[in-house]
Amino acid sequence: MARYIGPVCRLCRREDAKLFLKGDRCFTDKCGYERRQYPPGQHGQGRKKRPSDYGQQLREKQKVKRIYGLLEKQFRGYYYRASRMKGVTGENLLALLERRLDNVTLRCGFSSSHAEARQLVRHGHFLVNGKRINIPSYQVRAGDIVEVRDNSKKIQRIVDALGQVDRVPRPAWIDLDKENMRGKITALPSRSDISADIDEQLIVELYSK
Ligand code: SF4
Repeated sequence: MARYIGPVCRLCRREDAKLFLKGDRCFTDKCGYERRQYPPGQHGQGRKKRPSDYGQQLREKQKVKRIYGLLEKQFRGYYYRASRMKGVTGENLLALLERRLDNVTLRCGFSSSHAEARQLVRHGHFLVNGKRINIPSYQVRAGDIVEVRDNSKKIQRIVDALGQVDRVPRPAWIDLDKENMRGKITALPSRSDISADIDEQLIVELYSK
């Protein structure tokens, strides 16, 4: 599946929020958003216009897409899947995104950004219930065990990321065994478990036009 490979700090600046796309750098004063809090491009420092309703919906959708490292087609696929599920579409959408294997490895602290998580999954460094899975979009279920493969436990990027795991709050739906590099999915994520500043209703309004 295709992915965005352009500069990422400008995405944070465009969304006017820290999206934490660059791992360690996001927690330093080198953060591009901290240094230049205005939109990218020639007119970024010009007069700020009040966004229209459509503009707000579009920006919210783009923000969530970028947080999870997805492109439009795949993101829209998640929306349609969420809209066919029981319950609130916006919450279903966020739960589906949270349950992606690349996101779960990030939440466990095995990687420092979504892009890194995705690459590590593609390279087959993780097991789900003892089976090697290299599909970033794989959906984990309650009771699944996600762990780093024995041969991969010495990879410096994973060790370093795990060393920094406590700098962000750990999600309640993952029980992490740091010593053994293993996370157990104790429950499916609910809306209250997702701490990012997201107004999912705006995305539903955008797609249901
Ligand atoms: Fe965004 Fe991280 Fe770049 Fe800061 S360093 S602008 S949070 S991607």
